[in-house]
Amino acid sequence: MKKIMIYISTFLLTTGTLLCGCRTYINTPYSSAEYAMGTIVSNTIYADKNTGREISENITDELNNLENNYLSWRADNSLISRINKTSENGSTVMPDDKASLFFRKVLELAEKSSGAFDPSIGKIIDLWGFYDNNPHLPEPALINELLPKCSYKYIKYTDSGASSSISLTSDIKLDFGAVGKGIGCDSAYQILKTSGQDVCGAVISVGGSILVYGNKPDNSIWNIAITNPRKDNDDDNNYLGILNIKDTPCFISTSGDYEKYFEKDGVRYHHIIDPKTGYPADSGLISVTIICNDGLVSDGLSTACFVLGIKDSLPLLKEYNAEAVFVSTDKKVTITDGLKDIFTLKASGYITD
Ligand code: AMP
Ligand code: MG
Repeated sequence: MKKIMIYISTFLLTTGTLLCGCRTYINTPYSSAEYAMGTIVSNTIYADKNTGREISENITDELNNLENNYLSWRADNSLISRINKTSENGSTVMPDDKASLFFRKVLELAEKSSGAFDPSIGKIIDLWGFYDNNPHLPEPALINELLPKCSYKYIKYTDSGASSSISLTSDIKLDFGAVGKGIGCDSAYQILKTSGQDVCGAVISVGGSILVYGNKPDNSIWNIAITNPRKDNDDDNNYLGILNIKDTPCFISTSGDYEKYFEKDGVRYHHIIDPKTGYPADSGLISVTIICNDGLVSDGLSTACFVLGIKDSLPLLKEYNAEAVFVSTDKKVTITDGLKDIFTLKASGYITD
């Protein structure tokens, strides 16, 4: 029977600790788990309980706002839905400043990744049925028909300085699923920043994307765990390894072939699609984790690098000043130079490069 496995792809390891570096002394962080953007959102906030609760609620409200008014292609009046309708009637949508920024960053990433990350592939994603609880192998003819029509180059974003506009020049459907959770982390960062000294530090995890903010009260290092992409039985470690994060804000996103997939005739078909073929990316990777200073970029890069494979990802990572942990199909873990002192492999059965 076909099945989809959805895991929260990255976990946080926290220890409630104390003091200094912050205005108030806090023994344990405020912790909460919410549901937003179709995933679990876990918040660990070093602040007093009321502030922690308030920040946590504000983050959930903002994630719902992002989902319903901007990013969801299901919500009838969201920005993405309104843009998707322009492919039928040829009209133009005027984005607000927030949406303009998303589009500038998304189109830059599409261009720099040579289309490995391509937000125009919504119709091809639909063919695979991951979002309809009906994952299946599409008819090759349907993929071939859509492939030439889908490209980020058909998304026209113009910015005259005073205003900007977006239109589609091909019958495409935008899908921001590869960057939505990272955008959520960017918004969480803005909310935490406005709290000033009321919040000492925090870790906000939106599905596979994480924001590490500020410091712990005792200034000890944040331990962020990366999901083991092949936890095949109960004895296997949940975590592939641990990142010791000192410099914040820091945004961490993981993409893996274990998040949504089905198996047919012994082949795993997952949800990260190579826009050049219309089929699940086959670059020799099972998981990619990106660490950088921007949520949207970390999330988009994790998808792009999964499609590109290790070698072609390296120049792209350099352009964004990002670091990565790659896990190959042969269970080899490759890390970029900037992580040599901060990543520790924990799971058995893997080898380091
Ligand atoms: P992520 O888990 O962040 O890698 O995002 C995967 C989601 O992004 C999928 O469920 C699709 O909705 C969408 N997607 C899949 N492949 C691509 C791609 N190559 N470029 C842009 N979006 C993609
Ligand atoms: Mg992503």
